[in-house]
Amino acid sequence: MDFNELAREYGTPLYVYDFDYITNRYNMLKDAFSARKSLICYAVKANSNLSVLKLLASLGAGFDCVSIGEVRRALLAGAKKYQIILSGVGKRDDELEEALKSDILMINLESEAEMYRLEDITKKLNLKARISIRVNPDVDAKTHPYISTGLNENKFGVDINTAKKMYIHAKNSAALEPVGVHFHIGSQLTNIEPIIEAAGIVSELMRELKALEIDIKFFDVGGGIGIIYQNETDISLYDYAQGILAKLGGQDVTIVCEPGRFIVGNAGYFLTSVLYEKFNKQKRFIIVDGAMNDLIRPSLYGAYHGISVVGKNTSAGACDVVGPICESGDFFAKNLNLPACESGDIIVIKSAGAYGFSMSSNYNSRARAAEVAVQDKAHRLIRKRENFEDIIALEKEFI
Ligand SMILES: *Cc1c(COP(=O)(O)O)cnc(C)c1O
Repeated sequence: MDFNELAREYGTPLYVYDFDYITNRYNMLKDAFSARKSLICYAVKANSNLSVLKLLASLGAGFDCVSIGEVRRALLAGAKKYQIILSGVGKRDDELEEALKSDILMINLESEAEMYRLEDITKKLNLKARISIRVNPDVDAKTHPYISTGLNENKFGVDINTAKKMYIHAKNSAALEPVGVHFHIGSQLTNIEPIIEAAGIVSELMRELKALEIDIKFFDVGGGIGIIYQNETDISLYDYAQGILAKLGGQDVTIVCEPGRFIVGNAGYFLTSVLYEKFNKQKRFIIVDGAMNDLIRPSLYGAYHGISVVGKNTSAGACDVVGPICESGDFFAKNLNLPACESGDIIVIKSAGAYGFSMSSNYNSRARAAEVAVQDKAHRLIRKRENFEDIIALEKEFI
């Protein structure tokens, strides 16, 4: 990829996504489950650009959404309604109502209270709600605490016994149709053991439900497959899929998987221009035109992203790569060896395709970056750079 050319043509800061890589990753995962019925539901929150969603819809992907806004995005991008799932710990009434009317595949419930709420709304609309229940299997995903979700101390899902109670209620309700079971224990998992363990626990629950004549059709193993940012080891998709299948035994279900990061993480590059190099006593800073409002992962999780300077290889020693925002937490890297930089050099921040743009904001009244797709060696704009007018659009009529 010619990053200089892309930066020249579209400006910086800029997100660039390799659509061929995304295609390849989707196919890898689909193939891993080829022995069974499977539905790969891309987690929209990882990167919700409409063109990314359209590409995945064209490949046959379903979509895992966590707000009605994401459901609308998926539908706009050409997703089939029977391939859309709505999850999330706190769904508003209007979201549940719209999801019901949109007739999506299933609504994933995360509490008893939510089930009763959905039941009321469904009755009022004279519809029937296909539901799944997010079970919290209480296994330790051994990932960063902010992205670990499968322990009882987390806000997500319900414990096994509550789930059982809910399934029995749903089966006896005229408004609810239990069709799925779901778990998602965390993100950026580089060890598959916890997922396989969780699959075993939830598979056992499914067996017990079967004995109660509650026939689950969709076994949703969540997302969370880790990727290589620095020196992680890739998980084997074969072992992952086989491990899950083994826990299922002979149960005839469609396996649903909700990858976000795995599909788009390493497809993305964040390009930013060097503004200045600055020295405070011994310390070197490279100040760039991108900032934490564009890519917050280093600030939020202390996440590592590979960084290079286009066209330069010889290190000039350690430096911090920082943005212009008025926060000490506004950095992309600390104590990283990088070449001497001049104003205008292009810096590439790797592995930026997941939780990059989708977590961006207008903090410091900074316009959000443009997004570009590269596919079959051609590139095209898939989101315009914001301008000042965009930032103030919803306020200016009030002053
Ligand atoms: C965030 C999330 C995902 C996607 O996680 P990745 O780590 O990006 O694969 C999938 N399912 C649920 C319920 C999520 O909350």
